[in-house]
Order: sequence, then structure tokens, then C-alpha cells
Amino acid sequence: MICELCGKAIIGKPYRIYVEGAYMTVCESCAKYGKPADSVKPLIGKHVDKVKKTYQDIPEYEIIDNYGQIIRNIREEMGLTQDKFGLKCGIKPSLLAKIEQQRIIPDYQTLRKLETSLKIKLMRQPTSL
Ligand SMILES: [Zn+2]
Repeated sequence: MICELCGKAIIGKPYRIYVEGAYMTVCESCAKYGKPADSVKPLIGKHVDKVKKTYQDIPEYEIIDNYGQIIRNIREEMGLTQDKFGLKCGIKPSLLAKIEQQRIIPDYQTLRKLETSLKIKLMRQPTSL
């Protein structure tokens, strides 16, 4: 293998580095002229598309007004503590406590977990006026 910077044969471990917008395989003594390739994370278009798609899969929704009270009432009817209920539906008890106090609005995935566990609807279609 030949060093792409100095043109000498690479003896030992070749180094992948990032120099002025390009990736190069260089020898040990040239490695200091660039950043290690591992530390450079270029933005790949494919990755961006994937994120966008995931976002689109989440439908628009509004959470019902008194969700915290409703969740707590049903949990208590089931005779479960926040710890036990959190375990049952896969939500951290500390997060569950904040949701019940309506200090945070749960994200879509969390809402779905709650709806499934409680067998109730916590979301509604957005009201368009
Ligand atoms: Zn070199």
C-alpha cells in the first residue's frame, strides 16, 4: 500500500485521514496532516431522508385536555403504583409522574403506549378552525 500524501510505501498500519474535503490513506508520519477519518461525520443525504420519513409516519394529533388526571384515575382504578404501571407500559416512572401532573406533554410513542395499556383514547384529531 502506498501513502497518498508522500507516495512512500506504508509500513505497518495505514491511517485513514480527512484532509481538505477528501479521505486519504496515508502512512504514520503523514497522519498528522489531517483529522482521523473516524472523527469526521459527513452529512449523508440518505440519512436525512430516513429521518424525514419517520417524522411523516407520525400523524398529527392533539392530546386531550385533562390527560394527566385521566391517566392517574385509571391507573389507581387498576390498583397500580406509578412504578408498577410504568413497568407495565414501558414508561419510566419519573416520566409517568410528570405526565400525570401534566408538567410535560408525552410524545406520540409514549401516548400510544399509554393508550394501549389503559385502553382509552388520549389523542384526538387536531381541531381546525
Ligand atoms: Zn506519507
